[in-house]
Amino acid sequence: MSLLTEIDRRKTFGIISHPDAGKTTLTEKLLLFGGAIQEAGAVKSNKIKKGATSDFMEIERQRGISVATSVLAFEYQGIKINILDTPGHKDFAEDTFRTLTAVDSVIVVIDVAKGVEEQTEKLVEVCRMRNIPIIVFVNKLDREGKDAFDLLDEIEQKLHLRVTPLSFPIGMGYDFKGIYNIWEKNVNLFEGSKRQEIEDSIHIENLESEELDQLVGSDAADQLREELELVYEVYPNFDREAYLEGALQPVFFGSALNNFGVRELLDCFVEIAPKPRPKESSTRLVKPEEEDFSGFVFKIHANMDPKHRDRLAFVKIVSGTFERNTPYLHVRNQKKLKFSSPNAFFAEKKQIVDVSYPGDIVGLHDTGNFKIGDTLTEGEQMEFKGIPSFSPEHFKYINNADPMKSKQLEKGIDQLMDEGVAQLFRLELNGRKVIGTVGALQFEVIQYRLEHEYGAKCSYEQLNVHKACWVDPEDANSEEFKEFKRVKSKFLAKDKQGQLVYLADSAFTLQMTQQKYPSVKLHFVSEFD
Ligand code: GDP
Repeated sequence: MSLLTEIDRRKTFGIISHPDAGKTTLTEKLLLFGGAIQEAGAVKSNKIKKGATSDFMEIERQRGISVATSVLAFEYQGIKINILDTPGHKDFAEDTFRTLTAVDSVIVVIDVAKGVEEQTEKLVEVCRMRNIPIIVFVNKLDREGKDAFDLLDEIEQKLHLRVTPLSFPIGMGYDFKGIYNIWEKNVNLFEGSKRQEIEDSIHIENLESEELDQLVGSDAADQLREELELVYEVYPNFDREAYLEGALQPVFFGSALNNFGVRELLDCFVEIAPKPRPKESSTRLVKPEEEDFSGFVFKIHANMDPKHRDRLAFVKIVSGTFERNTPYLHVRNQKKLKFSSPNAFFAEKKQIVDVSYPGDIVGLHDTGNFKIGDTLTEGEQMEFKGIPSFSPEHFKYINNADPMKSKQLEKGIDQLMDEGVAQLFRLELNGRKVIGTVGALQFEVIQYRLEHEYGAKCSYEQLNVHKACWVDPEDANSEEFKEFKRVKSKFLAKDKQGQLVYLADSAFTLQMTQQKYPSVKLHFVSEFD
């Protein structure tokens, strides 16, 4: 098949949700539809219960060996679908942000009873900023929940989306009778006894027909007619262009656990979701259909099996074809690298592949060459943009607790930072190392991994930092910038890329600093124009 045909039949997306809304269950049902798995329970949840480190370790160990849920690929109606895993736990939000740079669209799962939750708000904001096309799936309709219209309002207000329902529930909870598919104009009935089966829907061309009354009862039929009238009146018609631009978001209702409403979602998804999109680089916009291969690393997975120490770097292919045993340029290192056993992902397995196409993810064995954000090309000198670091929330000094193992500690910290587990800052004044993380959990994870993977011991020391701000002076030679550097010297550090960072100790000093040195811009994100 030609490159163009392969691009046209690929859709790469991520499912995002607050923990427990049903991401894992939905993923599994999608794979069932694709015939990629035969039974429920095959997809491992990546959930961290109660935030326990041991739980995290266990999951990481399993995942490190099987790389189970990082990428799940399957085929449906001739379309190759790649689902990228996004951790729901807030301490791993940065991992999710980075994964969002590799998806071409997302599905947001919302619990009908809980409505829009905090984690969803943050993740959708990132998608909105990048104009990523979004489909919303309201889950758990078999349970009592919020009124559908109230929920649509809430989604619009809290997530700042412009929604249009493409399916609509008939009843809810105990009275849940089924779904009217606005997209295809048919009814799918929810029958308790056949819950786990994939059912054919009943086609109803005319909503006024008696058939609807017979199927769901007159009361429910009348209510549905009224509600649909309101839907057509209040919400805009679906417009694919608007969806693709991130300006309109279709909403589906269903119950992932009962495999209900999922086919409607999937059928619409394969029709409307975008194929691999172009990506901005340091020099130009790179289009998928270009012949030369290019791609970027968005995730690095350490192998937790002590016998196999290598890591797996996940590369999203942006353009051209990626081929096994072909030398590609690692742009940051200016080195040509060849990969003899690139992994592709199918359902929950990985296998070696010869050729991969835009939209696909390949897993490359890595002995320490890669870090997140790295670009591979056929020789072109350009780097993909858009994997910024965000200011961490928690900061601590990291000290060496075993002087005999300082080399191991250096190496361990270096590699963990390349994986994006946390961020390292080195104070300008005395060279001390400060670790910044999104969640408190990562400090334990780092300590554990340094010890078990690198044989090094570390200890932490409290440090009072409110936010890390990337420093961006209007004029690097100005008196104002010089004074800023002199007055704030105790609080200045360099990040791993060597960028200057100001560690503000409180919201108040940050505000004062901004007022006092207006020509020195302070950013909470490491990439800025
Ligand atoms: P995740 O944290 O978003 O991956 O959520 P899971 O898929 O693990 O689901 C969380 C819990 O909700 C599990 O106990 C699921 O069985 C349950 N669940 C998922 N979908 C549904 C649904 O449609 N109805 C009901 N009643 N429970 C569901």
